[in-house]
Amino acid sequence: MSHQQTDAIRIQTARTNEMEHSTPMFLTSSFCFDNAEEMRAAFADESDDNIYSRFSNPSVQEFTDKMVALEGAEAGYATASGMSAVSGSFMALLKQGDHLLACNSIFGSTHTVIAKYLPKFGIEQSYVSANATEAEWRAAIRPNTKMIYLETPTNPGLEILDMSMIGRIAKEHGIIFNVDNCFATPVNQLPIQHGADLVVHSATKWLDGQGRVLGGVVVGRKDLIKEIYLFCRSTGPALSPFNAWVLSKSLETLDVRMERHASNALYIAQQLENHPAINTLRYPFLASHPHHAIAIQQMKNGGGIVCFELKGGIEAGRKFLDALKMLSLTANLGDTRSIASHPASTTHAKLSEAERQAVNITPGLIRISVGLENKEDILNDILQALG
Ligand SMILES: *Cc1c(COP(=O)(O)O)cnc(C)c1O
Repeated sequence: MSHQQTDAIRIQTARTNEMEHSTPMFLTSSFCFDNAEEMRAAFADESDDNIYSRFSNPSVQEFTDKMVALEGAEAGYATASGMSAVSGSFMALLKQGDHLLACNSIFGSTHTVIAKYLPKFGIEQSYVSANATEAEWRAAIRPNTKMIYLETPTNPGLEILDMSMIGRIAKEHGIIFNVDNCFATPVNQLPIQHGADLVVHSATKWLDGQGRVLGGVVVGRKDLIKEIYLFCRSTGPALSPFNAWVLSKSLETLDVRMERHASNALYIAQQLENHPAINTLRYPFLASHPHHAIAIQQMKNGGGIVCFELKGGIEAGRKFLDALKMLSLTANLGDTRSIASHPASTTHAKLSEAERQAVNITPGLIRISVGLENKEDILNDILQALG
């Protein structure tokens, strides 16, 4: 068994006759057969030969194999976006009459899938708070609960959920435990070691890390991945081989990038924690974080996101964004470039004040995705904008 960093660099499609060093890109929609018998056998699932890139593709497989190795999973399937990984994991495994239990602090589009689309197919859903106790999680389980779904750290509240505690409850009840590991990445935490059966990712964020392509992946138990694969190969959210090639190359630098993102973020968090323009600041590896004890148990570092609440609410938030000179105003996160966002006036503007309050999105909340620029330059831009 090699180490995670080595797998992310050395797992590669078998070398072709051209003897390339860097991985080739298999930009092809279909694959050829030497004769009718080989083609028949492939279609009959008697061989592993590639048929069509909606089913499988070597570039996509290489990215998937790396993610399987990094997460310590049995199998995986890569998808066109994080949302197709999330929704594929729901649609392939839940049926009419099943119940999905989720943490309420989740990515906006995931909330839309759960609250709007699952009920259309007769799938029940309910939420628990990110601060729920073990007793509250247990009380939320129904006889027909089929899956528990959560993100940790949450977006943008940065709450940390105790994966071992929830994984134990899921195991006791034979419930599929599905974790969105987008914010932490496998460099920082391994949900499968805490009882997760499935791990989903938006590869668009830290895995790409340079804001170039969309992608997603689900890894986990072989029997569950098989169902997700069969669903996706028929419904069609296949990852483009070009995007897979980009993502596979990105994974070669994931470990060093995440280390720097986290050390820059910790520095920014420490420097801003007591700033007079800031009410409260959240970073999982600061002792002031309400879930600090769980964070240091299940995470290697605090990650690359820092959130703070400006005094002066929504107007202060907008003014802060307008005063930034270097940080980008953009919807993405997990980029080499530092990004600032103001959820109350943008991504979460459609929610009511009460709904925002329930998931800790206060009017003055600012989320910083800390990039790889020099940490003093990032800090100085934030400081001048606060002033
Ligand atoms: C962005 C994101 C997603 C969705 O991924 P896309 O690649 O945009 O489809 C899902 N979960 C989390 C936590 C995210 O940040």
